[in-house]
Amino acid sequence: MNWDWLDANLQRLRDEGLWRDVRTIASLPDGWCEVDGRRVRNLSSNDYLNLAHDSRVVAAAKEALDDAGVGSGASALVSGRSIWHDRLETTIRDFEGTQAAILFPSGYAANVGCVSALVQDQDTVFCDRLNHASLVDGCRMSGARLRVYRHDRLEVLERELHKSQPVGRRWIVTDSVFSMDGDLAPLPALCDLAERFDAGLIVDEAHGTGVFGTHGRGVCEHFGVEHRIAVRIGTLSKAIGTLGGFVACSNSLRDWLWHSARMQVFSTALPPAICAAAVKSFELIRKEPERREHLRALSCQFRGSLCGRLSTEGYGPIVPIRAGTPDLAQQFAANLLEDGYLVGAIRPPTVPHGTSRLRVCLTFGCEMDEIHCLAKLILAQTDSAQSS
Ligand code: PMP
Repeated sequence: MNWDWLDANLQRLRDEGLWRDVRTIASLPDGWCEVDGRRVRNLSSNDYLNLAHDSRVVAAAKEALDDAGVGSGASALVSGRSIWHDRLETTIRDFEGTQAAILFPSGYAANVGCVSALVQDQDTVFCDRLNHASLVDGCRMSGARLRVYRHDRLEVLERELHKSQPVGRRWIVTDSVFSMDGDLAPLPALCDLAERFDAGLIVDEAHGTGVFGTHGRGVCEHFGVEHRIAVRIGTLSKAIGTLGGFVACSNSLRDWLWHSARMQVFSTALPPAICAAAVKSFELIRKEPERREHLRALSCQFRGSLCGRLSTEGYGPIVPIRAGTPDLAQQFAANLLEDGYLVGAIRPPTVPHGTSRLRVCLTFGCEMDEIHCLAKLILAQTDSAQSS
């Protein structure tokens, strides 16, 4: 094969400002990191509660590492699994208040595996336009008829639900927090529609778990609709500070996923030490509500001071700042790094063309005066970009 097409494609990415460098950084405790030998505030990580470096979480992982080794060897269906896996599923079940929970190797695998195991090819699945790629991939893999809707246009979803006459079932699939915009899905209205049209509602709480709700159970708890949503998916890689994904659900659904979710059946189980660390994180999330309360206060303060510059009015620690072009987003991010803040420049294909942005991810370790300073820097940059 002539491989010139590959270099041509890579050159096109460079020309369009879409080239991505994979930077090596050293992650440090309390939401800091080291970039090129400098200690900077890490505002590009989803470790919202800064549990990834918590000494108690690390100690739990070390204990399991000594006990059970590093890798888990095979898929849990083939070789069984450790007490650490059992403990984590029980912990998640109790935390979420569901009958059961089932682990997956990642949040991505949980979404693809759960959606593609539930949605059948004769069904119709309604998917928010801004859903995470893994939910979209799960919908595609299911072979069902896919209908995409905008979460600010629920009347269109309602019309589509009304029109659809599937041979099979209807499903509505949504993120609870949209990862690049930080806004929340209108879950109460989606529950109403799902109940009215007898559709199954599947919610991905990747950015909700640990952050939203009085007890940290996510946006479903925040809106008081947990009992109306039968399938809640989560990830352990964000506020939990570890790795992996889970589905909190009924016993029957857990059993079905064990048998039919391909990402479960055909992939090696999580390392036991990761499970032990996640158990400890859930305990801390329960015992230390001040972590999410401080994060909430930071988010309100920061959003308030950036009024008019946000690409989406939202709620919570993901704060998107409008840049427009990929080059401008990168320029903003480079300037902020000079000032000691590592912030992600988000560009297509992660977000639609023309909507490149900075994505600031606040974490528990941030101080009020620090984010006040950051807001001032962002305002100065966006003002100068507007006037030039
Ligand atoms: N869902 C959402 C909304 C996400 O943002 C992500 C990761 N960015 C995932 C699922 C996948 O989770 P993981 O990184 O644990 O695979």
